[in-house]
Amino acid sequence: MLERLRTVLIGTSHPGNIGGVARAMHNMGLSDLGLVAPRGEIITQESISRASGADHLLHNARVSQTLDEAVADCTFVVGASARSRTLPWPMLSPRELAHRLPEECRHDNARVALVFGREDSGLTNEELHRCHAHVHIPTNADFSSLNLAAAVQVVTYECRMAWLEQQAAPAGADGTSDERLASHADLERYFTHLEHTLTTIEFHDPDKPRQLMARLRRLYMRARPEQIELNILRGILTATDKAATIKPPRRRADNSGPRTPTH
Ligand code: SAH
Repeated sequence: MLERLRTVLIGTSHPGNIGGVARAMHNMGLSDLGLVAPRGEIITQESISRASGADHLLHNARVSQTLDEAVADCTFVVGASARSRTLPWPMLSPRELAHRLPEECRHDNARVALVFGREDSGLTNEELHRCHAHVHIPTNADFSSLNLAAAVQVVTYECRMAWLEQQAAPAGADGTSDERLASHADLERYFTHLEHTLTTIEFHDPDKPRQLMARLRRLYMRARPEQIELNILRGILTATDKAATIKPPRRRADNSGPRTPTH
């Protein structure tokens, strides 16, 4: 289960914090580290020193330029946020998140991303809308923001506790599932198609979005579609696109309405 967890840091500005995160992860038995557009060097004296022996995670870290790229193959994406945002999203405590993981990881292709934001400004709304759920560490409301590595420590500690409980549970209840869940990349392709179709049929006006796409994202991600189900939904969009380009049949000019039977 722990091997299926990826920690993703977006726009980190202090190399020392990346080192601190590597240490926190290695302490808890996680090793998959993704860095999105880090602002500065990754391997520095400070990051190596803060990693305290976990610097192999820094050397193996995968660097990408966008969140989409970093979590493309992930089937469950969770964004860690210190603040509540305008459009409410499914919200979990670290413990609730951790308790979902054994079930989540039953799927063959399961991969879970734990996404953490910038030291100065956290995650953007757009990034948070790309997540299935948000995780908030219940802190003092007047002083809610933890240091990045501390936040990673708390979340990954709960994941480890859930894993330890799973190890202690009687065998037999942990069979894997054949159903392949839709990945982040599958979902993003679907949302792009959906927005295009909704615009074509004039249901959606990109100039007056009124959070339509965010609400639809929240709805679809709550349903946790399998790949096969997403294929059906994409098929419906393709058929809708096609129907929308076919002009409706012209009404006949002979005024023949529905026929009434004559006796
Ligand atoms: N000043 C930023 C917080 C930055 S802390 C803000 O106001 O949003 C860096 C990152 O650590 C955050 O983006 C978040 O991913 C994580 N983090 C910090 N405190 C957290 C908390 N209480 N719950 C969940 N994540 C937290």
